[in-house]
Amino acid sequence: MSVLVLVEHTEGDIKKKSFEAVQYAAEIAKADGSGVAALVLGALSEDAISALGEYGAQKVLQVSDARLNDLHARAYTTAILTAAQKEGSKVIIMMHDVNGRAVAPRVAVKLNAGLVSGALSLPDKAKGFTIKKAVFSGKAFAYVNVTSDVKVITLMPNTFQLSKADGKATIEQLQVSFGPKDFGVTVKEVNKVKGEVLLAEAELVVSGGRGLKGPENWGLIEDLAKELGAATACSRPVADAHWRPHHEHVGQTGGTIRPNLYIAVGISGAIQHLAGVNGSKTIVVINKDPEAPFFKAGNYGVVGDALEILPRLTAAVKKFKE
Ligand code: FAD
Repeated sequence: MSVLVLVEHTEGDIKKKSFEAVQYAAEIAKADGSGVAALVLGALSEDAISALGEYGAQKVLQVSDARLNDLHARAYTTAILTAAQKEGSKVIIMMHDVNGRAVAPRVAVKLNAGLVSGALSLPDKAKGFTIKKAVFSGKAFAYVNVTSDVKVITLMPNTFQLSKADGKATIEQLQVSFGPKDFGVTVKEVNKVKGEVLLAEAELVVSGGRGLKGPENWGLIEDLAKELGAATACSRPVADAHWRPHHEHVGQTGGTIRPNLYIAVGISGAIQHLAGVNGSKTIVVINKDPEAPFFKAGNYGVVGDALEILPRLTAAVKKFKE
């Protein structure tokens, strides 16, 4: 019996959050005295796959069908069900991202399993199988006790610190019989996100809101991000106004990020925005209004005009690096 974990990869590399999922699965398996089987869907080299052993996978099941390089929720579900049956898995882990959110409910329904979406803790076995998760856009926490035989969990990215250990995983090819509807969706085009640092995986993020006044001032955000080696993000009105592309918008209706440092510039701190960023380890707020709600959620604050502060901050970072 193994804890099964879905691994995501892009352009030949496993995503950092998948290592987190494998490590999380390994912690659960350790408590159960079971093992971890990682499921890799699509084409990925043995070299890339071997890294999974260092985070606790004993076995990797690979379905080397190149169509699975893109998300096909039905086909992913079929593959996960096949792997879960083979491994006798009672716990199935995915990341709480676009893929995990599309696939986990389907898997849970098929297996009559309880689903915890957006887990923030390991299961507390002393209290049954109780997992902490955020609710009401991060305003409160719920402790969900999963009583079903099979359990499906999507793990919030950046919840646990990654640590490598010695470990090697065996690789097995898994045969899956896909049904006629499994690839019913045609992926016509994949738009790759441009940018030096991928927002979802960034440790440092510089984010701008309507306080930046217009797209012509965005260079100030980019300059600071470049000096820090950070990704850039924005509030929803900024994306709605096409100052920035929509994939940069964070919050309730955008991406959820949990970087080590989130610098919020000219963003008021509405609850819908905070929902996507309040898991950040340290939040720095720059706003000209001392009453801006974001200051309550921030660890550090600077009251002042962003257009004046940003160039000075960028220059200070540059000087510090020299
Ligand atoms: P504003 O609210 O206009 O705030 C601008 C801030 O900039 C102010 O605090 C102001 O003091 C400051 N400022 C102005 N000039 C300067 C200056 N020169 N220097 C420094 N500071 C300055 N929003 C999201 O961000 N993400 C979401 O996912 C999201 N989802 C939503 C879902 C729903 C259902 C709804 C109803 C709303 C959602 N919103 C979301 C919108 C959200 O409620 C806020 O309207 C939005 O976050 C405000 O964006 P903002 O802070 O950039 O703009």
